[in-house]
Amino acid sequence: MAIEKAEGIVLRVRPQGETSKLVHLYSLQRGRLALIAKGARLPKSKFGGALDVCNRIAVVFYTKETRELNYLREAEILERFPRVQADIGRLAVAEQGFEILLQLAMAGEPNARLYQLVLDLLRGLNEAESGLRNIGRSFLLHFLESSGFRPNLDRCSVCGRSTVGDRATFEIDRGSYVCAECPPAGKVSFPALGRTVEWARWLQRVPPSKAGVPAPQIVGQELDRWLWLHLSYHVEGAEKLVTFRCAGRLALREGELPESGDRNGKEARD
Ligand SMILES: [Zn+2]
Repeated sequence: MAIEKAEGIVLRVRPQGETSKLVHLYSLQRGRLALIAKGARLPKSKFGGALDVCNRIAVVFYTKETRELNYLREAEILERFPRVQADIGRLAVAEQGFEILLQLAMAGEPNARLYQLVLDLLRGLNEAESGLRNIGRSFLLHFLESSGFRPNLDRCSVCGRSTVGDRATFEIDRGSYVCAECPPAGKVSFPALGRTVEWARWLQRVPPSKAGVPAPQIVGQELDRWLWLHLSYHVEGAEKLVTFRCAGRLALREGELPESGDRNGKEARD
């Protein structure tokens, strides 16, 4: 029996048997890590509120060599994100990020940069007053970069200039875009507003915690549509991401409708 220590973020908690919980962490030391917390469902459990989703906790756990299961012995809260945990809108964006980690991050493979990125996501969601969805989109773009699937939006893939123009085309298969001046060259592509490309560039550059600026609604829809197409084209297993699939498909459907009128003189923000 080996005893180990780690710190991690609680991504998901499920009941395990009558009295225990199965806790999924994204840990600094081991990447994705599943732990059985015996007795955690009992009213006077020693774990108290430490296993709440989003908490950053320090854990002591042990592994039984005969079975590939890890058992939680101690858990201590290092950091909480009370506004994320209490607000369904903030929590939904956090859980979208957690779903990426649960489905696409490798179990047992530590990635310190990705760990910091998750913390940045939670700190941003806890502090932001608006633009929550852009915080989530920025997290996804940074995740893509850390996984080697970064879309190249620095310059037009045909003429090589960094200007975009009013209209542009996202080239899904090439993971790039073509500016208003050039003919689309990719096999899988969709037209978008030039400013959607500029928003996507900005979301790649800033950390998630600084991305809390609401995009115009039409831009938000195009971003969701593009992100979903890029993700499902390039990343194996992306079809398992239920929340992204919903957001992307919804945006695809809405994107087919004509742009709604600007009746108040103010553009709707997402
Ligand atoms: Zn061009």
